Amino acid sequence: MAQPDDDIALRVQALEQALVAKGLVDPAALAAFVDAYENRIGPKNGARVVARAWTDPAYKARLLENGAAAIGELGYGGLQGENLVVVENTADTHNLIVCTLCSCYPWPVLGLPPVWYKSPAYRARAVKEPRAVLKEFGLDLPAEMQVRVWDSSAEIRYMVLPRRPAETQHLDERELAAMVTRDGMIGTATI
Ligand code: FE
Repeated sequence: MAQPDDDIALRVQALEQALVAKGLVDPAALAAFVDAYENRIGPKNGARVVARAWTDPAYKARLLENGAAAIGELGYGGLQGENLVVVENTADTHNLIVCTLCSCYPWPVLGLPPVWYKSPAYRARAVKEPRAVLKEFGLDLPAEMQVRVWDSSAEIRYMVLPRRPAETQHLDERELAAMVTRDGMIGTATI
């Protein structure tokens, strides 16, 4: 059965082809736009949220209590971010997010999902064998580390709050934000 997201993807693709064929849209400009949301603008919002949480304990408490509201304090919100839950990595628990049904993702903080996040293989395996998946991402977690997998939905989107790396006391919020990656906030990396 086709998922709603597949249907949307097909419609968008048809629309894009029609616009390009009529010379109304430059495919290179479109690719740059998508790249911006997927790799630059999006994850940078999340990285600012993480850095604020690392440096401001009161903010971190609010973030874990009500993710959408605390993220809204920094000016981020909107589509696919209305009910955003932030899950914290700790010394004994590592979190991983997935959408087993389609590709639900916290757009306001992470931008567009990477292609692998939408792949059937990731969606199925992240739940069944998260440790094996994480290993393929280069993340070999100790056996005693608990792995929690969060299945996103149209109602709830998740974001991981990575652990602040050691020896970073001298860094300010902006420098800390620069260390945070998109994968760290999905949980396929530690930071
Ligand atoms: Fe989804």
